[in-house]
Amino acid sequence: MSAEGDERDAEGLDGGYDADAVEPKWQDRWVESETYAYDGDPEQDPNTTYAIDTPPPTVSGSLHMGHLYGHTLQDFAARFQRMYDGDVLFPFGYDDNGIASERLTERDLGIRHQEFERREFQQKCREVCQTYEDSFTEQMQSLGCSIDWNHTYKTIEPRVQRVSQLSFLDLYEKGREYRKKAPAIWCPDCETAISQVEMEDDERGSHFNDIAFELVGDNLDRDEFVISTTRPELIPACVSVFVHPDDEDNQDLVGERARIPIFGHEVPIIEDERVDMEKGSGVVMCCTFGDQNDIEWYQAHDLPLRVAIDESATMTELAGDYEGMSTEEAREAIVEDLDDEGHLRDRWEISHAVQVHERCDTPVEYRVSKQWYVEILDHKEEYLEAGREMDWYPEKMFSRYEHWIEGLEWDWLISRQRDSGIPFPVWYCESCDEPVMAEKEDLPVDPLADDPPVDACPECGHDELEAEEDVFDTWATSSLTPLINAGWDWDAEDEAFAMDHPELYPFDLRPQGHDIISFWLFHTIVKCYEHTGEVPFDATLINGHVLDENREKMSKSRGNVVDPENVMEEYPVDAIRYWAASASVGDDFPFKDQDLVTGEKLLRKLWNASKLVDQLTPADQIEEPDELDPIDEWLLARQDAVIESLTEKLDNHEISKARNELRVFFWNTFCDDYLEIAKQRLDAEDSESTAYALQTAHRRFLELFAPLLPHITEEIWQSLYADGGSIADDSIHLRDWPTPSGHDADLESGETALEVIGALRRYKSEHQLALNAELDRVEVYGRIDGFENVVRGVMHVDDLDARDEAADVTTEIAEISLDYSQVGPKFGEKVGEIDAALESGEYELDDGALHVAGEELGADLFEVREERTYAGEGEMIEADDLVVVVQN
Ligand SMILES: [Zn+2]
Ligand SMILES: [Zn+2]
Repeated sequence: MSAEGDERDAEGLDGGYDADAVEPKWQDRWVESETYAYDGDPEQDPNTTYAIDTPPPTVSGSLHMGHLYGHTLQDFAARFQRMYDGDVLFPFGYDDNGIASERLTERDLGIRHQEFERREFQQKCREVCQTYEDSFTEQMQSLGCSIDWNHTYKTIEPRVQRVSQLSFLDLYEKGREYRKKAPAIWCPDCETAISQVEMEDDERGSHFNDIAFELVGDNLDRDEFVISTTRPELIPACVSVFVHPDDEDNQDLVGERARIPIFGHEVPIIEDERVDMEKGSGVVMCCTFGDQNDIEWYQAHDLPLRVAIDESATMTELAGDYEGMSTEEAREAIVEDLDDEGHLRDRWEISHAVQVHERCDTPVEYRVSKQWYVEILDHKEEYLEAGREMDWYPEKMFSRYEHWIEGLEWDWLISRQRDSGIPFPVWYCESCDEPVMAEKEDLPVDPLADDPPVDACPECGHDELEAEEDVFDTWATSSLTPLINAGWDWDAEDEAFAMDHPELYPFDLRPQGHDIISFWLFHTIVKCYEHTGEVPFDATLINGHVLDENREKMSKSRGNVVDPENVMEEYPVDAIRYWAASASVGDDFPFKDQDLVTGEKLLRKLWNASKLVDQLTPADQIEEPDELDPIDEWLLARQDAVIESLTEKLDNHEISKARNELRVFFWNTFCDDYLEIAKQRLDAEDSESTAYALQTAHRRFLELFAPLLPHITEEIWQSLYADGGSIADDSIHLRDWPTPSGHDADLESGETALEVIGALRRYKSEHQLALNAELDRVEVYGRIDGFENVVRGVMHVDDLDARDEAADVTTEIAEISLDYSQVGPKFGEKVGEIDAALESGEYELDDGALHVAGEELGADLFEVREERTYAGEGEMIEADDLVVVVQN
């Protein structure tokens, strides 16, 4: 062997693999030495930097399995690209403004925001969020994510506040924002307006109530009509009744007036095509407001505003005796009184979709209020086009984006009547309501504390200006993450927007969950497109959700939530990463212990194989000999093919396919086949060729496994191959991704030769022969051109006869076994008959399908086991596709 005098610096591998010690060690070193710091400069070619716009987790509680999975998936991309294509920006953010973090603070401290001065409450939010953020950092680091900890941001920090306020001013100047007093979607629990995207459907139990409305006037054929409603508490807010123009049964009502029961006020009866004639009696009431229809009618018919429900869903003065009740209390009380007074004609239980606020599950109301909007409805086409320009992984997720845009009915409402958020940089003239915007140089500002940039209204000269009290919607800021990460800012000298790191923008990748396509992805595209005229991402990687082992959604109420802390305590992070790589990107997938156990086994295999390689080739860099033996050349050529395939898969985010291909090649071909051969060859003779191939392949395996299993590969690399330099330069994760070495071999013959060797090894063990026992004669019916010598040498064959022809064997079907889990449900009672027919040999196999008992079974429903018998001399041993005969 070529080991003489070639002393190794590193310490070699001892004992078993101790993930508990190894993983935290490297996590600490990577962070301390800033192994993953992005050091690109602004002059750099944008195409050499791979920038990832990582999702800043909302600070609303602890991280869950979804975070752990999502960030691991992003880390695969970051680690692969760092090795493959140079500089990577992999930043981290904390989304800690807005309703979610306010509610967390309220929950954690047992307080309500209304009980405090704004600044005092904000301070409490900062303190509570800080604790959670520290634990986010710790968890991300203990997951081994290759985050650049110099590139972090909080969405409430001053720098981000400035970006967010600049965005507001820029969109305002571009004419993309307006402030309007109009009905808006309202959460009575959060006591703020919200946007369309924050509403979700929730199936709830309710009642339909048939209520009789009295007609006003004498010369009519009837004196009442019935409307059906699930919300009788809204009748004090009733402003009109509607009938469809085609509704012949109710045409007589149009133009008449109705009297509202209990409350006594009169409303007009109007015709309108938006009435759903199929629903109830076909006559509907319009209240201000019960739903979106009411808003349309209110605007189209210029109806009066009657507000019966206040901002906290309490009945107002307009509700008379019911004032002060909650909507639910009023609903029951009004139904009872309607019944007492004979107006309730029927009442029955239903279950229907109620629109609720996604943050707090409270049914939304609609309130007239003055709010700021970003105009988006007029640019739907542009945003769709922007979505089409991106690569989607997986492609099918584009349709979610498309459906969301197609279903948009509201402009984007960005003002929130809350405390913890980024303030609008705006004051208003007390006299004429003219908005006065802050100067860009002064941002960030808080108009409640800071002075406006002018002393008097530029419109009317009035000298009292009022501060805007609202804050931005949290998505108004988190939709700016690419710009925040690229250092977008206003350059006062150039009077233009500029970026500190223009080479990062547009970003290469936006990874995120499918549940926030309509929230985060859509709004980021809106903002970035309007600010820069560019689509902010080349590609988006959409991850699925983690389900429990029965593929059910994890939820507190089901009690099936898996706590990431527990998982991380029980398994090595590398095993968790192995599991995280098991799903096809975009698909929801189950959390299964089994996958983690398999991951752990792979770690052990990698460790033990590395130890063996180390023992067999104890020099840290072996020279390539002038000529390689065919089997060694074959291994490197075969690995070349795997490298090409893996590179393509990882570049396309086909993580699970890449994982499986690498595992199978490493485990079966390298460990089970080649390593055994190498051991024999190196034990018996001093083969430079084998030593070189073994170590070269091993080094490349470590590099190929590095993005998937960063800890164990770093440990082995540093022990065996690193030159002892700083981890900031010498980490395996900063190495170049392997490229094909250009070795050439007949891959198929080599594969066959390995099968022959495997078969002969089995033969020897079955006959209790030593591995180096001589075999007199072996016949191989298959092509092993060029590999005869290795078979002869490794298996000690005296006379090897390899023929590229079929052996004289008879092949018979020994058994056909059915997949009953599929066959059972599909054929039911007929299964007995099928079994009987198979038993008696009454079947036909044709083109991969099984014809039996008058049925046709596809290839996925059954398996055929064949038995081969050999009539010639010697003993036949079967390998997958070939026949080997031994005469001993
Ligand atoms: Zn709410
Ligand atoms: Zn004014």
